[in-house]
Amino acid sequence: MNFQKGTLPPGLTFVGVPIGSARDVTLRALDTLASADVLVAEDTRTMRKLMDIHGIPLDGRKMISLHDHSTPAKLEGLVDLVRGGASLAYASEAGMPAIADPGFELARAMHDANLPVTCAPGPSAAATALAVAGLPTDAFMFLGFLPNAQSARRQAIEAVADVAATLVLYESPKRLAKCLADLATVLGDDRNAAVCRELTKKFEEVRRGSLSDLTAAYQGANVKGELVVLVERGHSPIVREIDLENEIKAALSSMSVRDAADAIAQAHGVKRRTVYNLALKLSAEEQDDTDR
Ligand code: SAM
Repeated sequence: MNFQKGTLPPGLTFVGVPIGSARDVTLRALDTLASADVLVAEDTRTMRKLMDIHGIPLDGRKMISLHDHSTPAKLEGLVDLVRGGASLAYASEAGMPAIADPGFELARAMHDANLPVTCAPGPSAAATALAVAGLPTDAFMFLGFLPNAQSARRQAIEAVADVAATLVLYESPKRLAKCLADLATVLGDDRNAAVCRELTKKFEEVRRGSLSDLTAAYQGANVKGELVVLVERGHSPIVREIDLENEIKAALSSMSVRDAADAIAQAHGVKRRTVYNLALKLSAEEQDDTDR
């Protein structure tokens, strides 16, 4: 590993850090923290702790805090440092910077000043939840935290009710039951969903079920830890059969009937059995044509 300070080129490097397990840090993240001229952190104590765990010395380098309420002058100061030739490493408290975390304004300020921005990527709770939840991942929409007030929260849910993608949102354990109840009210009881709690940590848990099942399961429960809620898209019957047929025909040129059915059913949120039967029929027809 390159544990030498001053060896990172000038510019801003975002550093993705663990969302629970300290060993999920990447070697490049450690290299970056070890070699940047200046360290910038949402929470300087968390950054110090991560560096201590991995044996990275601060070595007299400056550590600057930057959070959601930092002033424009603070951003300008960081831009000036890079303009003067410094390399900056920025990490938020957990996960990927700028994902429901500070970072976006810093990136924009650097771009506005034509200064380089790069990233040593790491875990994010959103991507980790998508990986483990077993809901379609071909298209997803990240909503961050929904508003706290019920009417605003319901409005925010209504605005995405017809989005053809898995919805991914962050929620606090205290508000989980209310949030699930509002999701069920607006999107319908039957939508499949998952609650992914304490990802990468000792008490990691993934609970799947319909929105009404999950609402009932968490009503009055003493929920602890950090969590991500995912909701599958609505199964709209709007997909036209002719479009499905064309897609299946195209897919059958490079896939088995089974794989084509899996991919297309997932992409459109249509029952797999329906697509499978159609794919079988089309595959048999194609075989007849080639035999003739
Ligand atoms: N930037 C972070 C990322 O990329 O994951 C997210 C930061 S946001 C302020 C914190 C929220 O992320 C938590 O309230 C929770 O909803 C979610 N979260 C963070 N770590 C988590 C974990 N280990 N398991 C489940 N959710 C987590």
